Amino acid sequence: MKSVQFIDGKAVHVVKRFSCDEWVELVTAYLENDLDEPTRQRFEEHLAECECCGHYLHQFRVTVTALGALPPDPPPDDMRDRLLSAFRNRRDSRVEERRSS
Ligand SMILES: [Zn+2]
Repeated sequence: MKSVQFIDGKAVHVVKRFSCDEWVELVTAYLENDLDEPTRQRFEEHLAECECCGHYLHQFRVTVTALGALPPDPPPDDMRDRLLSAFRNRRDSRVEERRSS
């Protein structure tokens, strides 16, 4: 299942890498400790490398705290859409800031 890739001359063991969209699908399972060990490791690796997903997880936790509980699994589509659009708006506004300065 594992393969080896060379990044900057270093051999790196790579299982499958998540795209951000795939990663987002696993946030609820992660918070409920429902991921198996290899998946949890990949999840955390992506989290460590991806600033956007770090913000997403933070925002998700804030939302969960506000609700007082984890949303039902799978999360309702509207909540997921709301989080995803907040996530995307944030990226868009960053582009805007750069454009106006
Ligand atoms: Zn990401």
